[in-house]
Amino acid sequence: MLNPFLEKFQNFVFFSPHLDDAVLSCGSLIYELTSHSKEVLVVSIFTRSTQPPNSTQAEEFLDECGYLDAGKLFSDRKTEDINALTYLGAKYLHLKFIDAAWRVVEPNIANSSQFRLRNIKRQHVYKDARVQFSGRISIHDKRLKRIVGEEFTAIANRQIQPTLYLAPVGVGGHADHILVRDAVLKINPEVILWEDFPYNVATADIDKFRKEHAGYINVFNLSKNWLQKNQAIKLYKSQVPVLFKKEIPKTAEKYYFRSSKNLKFE
Ligand SMILES: [Zn+2]
Repeated sequence: MLNPFLEKFQNFVFFSPHLDDAVLSCGSLIYELTSHSKEVLVVSIFTRSTQPPNSTQAEEFLDECGYLDAGKLFSDRKTEDINALTYLGAKYLHLKFIDAAWRVVEPNIANSSQFRLRNIKRQHVYKDARVQFSGRISIHDKRLKRIVGEEFTAIANRQIQPTLYLAPVGVGGHADHILVRDAVLKINPEVILWEDFPYNVATADIDKFRKEHAGYINVFNLSKNWLQKNQAIKLYKSQVPVLFKKEIPKTAEKYYFRSSKNLKFE
């Protein structure tokens, strides 16, 4: 039996910043929903790289994953995502936006002569990991945030109602996670937010989010279906050794919603 709040919906759309986030943070819930004959779609947003030269954090990430070619890494990660979501009984959609570690600042053509454009130095939107995980979106991502939001609206318009949307809280401060959260909240504030795993193992900055987003409370936690979730996470073969040095820690999934006296979650 699903909780009464979830039972009201037939369709569930998870907005996953990267090709693994929804399963890492919500694998138990995804399996719970599909095993109750609910329709689950996981939309992954940042699924592409750019050509070298890479930022330092992109180089480090490639190295940790054991890859030389970012194109090959993202192509393998898409296959892994399809395998994991198929295993959990969910559908997938891979949008084609560029991952934060690879994003470059677009030259301002209006203010640049052809000569200067040819000689323009490539500048990354997030120059290092510290900036990329600062919890703030770069000013250079303003246009991207608007385009991502338009894409979310288009996806929402295609859904058969009633549909519930889910997105990350942004624990860990990754710019892509924050951008997705803000873009989803803009199209629909009635969103369930999930606590980002495994970032939430090391940090407790959920309080920071709650200070900035008054009224959001932890409405339910889920720790069942661990076997299925664990199996699904292991299908992200390129990511498991990077994310988990030993075993995958068994932690409860945590979900947040705007507080309301009239909603029953348990
Ligand atoms: Zn992520």
